[in-house]
Amino acid sequence: MFENFYGNQKVKETLVTLIDDGRLSHGILLEGERGLGKKTLAKEIAKAVLCTGESKPCGVCRACKKIEAGVHPDFLYFSGGEGARSFHIDTIREIREAAYVMPNEGAAKVFLLSDVQNMTIQAQNALLKIIEEPPEQTMFLLTCDDTSALLTTILSRLVTLRLQHPSQKECEQALEKLAPEETPERRTEAANTAHGNIGEALALIRDETAMKISTDAKKLLQVLCLGSEYEMLTILYPYERQREQFVRLMDALGRLFCDIALSRYHTARQDTRQYGTRISQQKALKAVELSTAMRDKAIGNANIALLSAGYCGKLKSMV
Ligand SMILES: [Zn+2]
Repeated sequence: MFENFYGNQKVKETLVTLIDDGRLSHGILLEGERGLGKKTLAKEIAKAVLCTGESKPCGVCRACKKIEAGVHPDFLYFSGGEGARSFHIDTIREIREAAYVMPNEGAAKVFLLSDVQNMTIQAQNALLKIIEEPPEQTMFLLTCDDTSALLTTILSRLVTLRLQHPSQKECEQALEKLAPEETPERRTEAANTAHGNIGEALALIRDETAMKISTDAKKLLQVLCLGSEYEMLTILYPYERQREQFVRLMDALGRLFCDIALSRYHTARQDTRQYGTRISQQKALKAVELSTAMRDKAIGNANIALLSAGYCGKLKSMV
């Protein structure tokens, strides 16, 4: 069940129990950062509701296939624009109208409202009225990356399921299916850099420059601990004529050092955890500051060659 959705075993188990017991709520909120598969999971839940097969969701009946293709008339998708307060009351009015129309071919109507953190307060109040007394045979699936933007009255009407980062291994397994054309090394690299976030890893693996910057940042870190200042400069040399990429490299290094600083806690990536014993938390935090300063100077048009030399020298004397 839910074979298109990777990781988050506990959330899946909860859902399976609810579905099997016929206790699936009429309002579910999926919370989690971008790339964790909220919409994919919402689709799987919609399949479970509208599936006409034996064990729901079967994934092979007409209803399941139509949902997967995005053409099921009883699975309706709504979202606002990109930014805050871009999800307006007009859309909620449209949803209300549709909710009072009987399902076309399924047993229910399933509404997917994506990125509800972007809803205006008016839109939230209008939505509240619908979910307080939902029309029969309707189900609302909401996704958001941050519940703090939502009215508590809305939250109290919904069952919230929080999505976590899949493990690196789960992410790699997902990439094996979603990006089979890539090499195992690249999949590992992307899964690692994206910290298990499958959506982010997929975007990364298809971006040649991002992959190169990520690899270079890790190489620099390794050389910083085990190599010479000269070797560090060799890695940085090609960036002298690539200001924008240098900025991105400094960002990547800042993130790596930040991870090292956190390495005594559970949040650190496996590959940076090993540096935690070599670079103290205090030094790692200084390195974050240094990387940020270099980044800002590069944006401010400073000479990249000079920045690189200064950066390597200061890091080396620090570690
Ligand atoms: Zn089915």
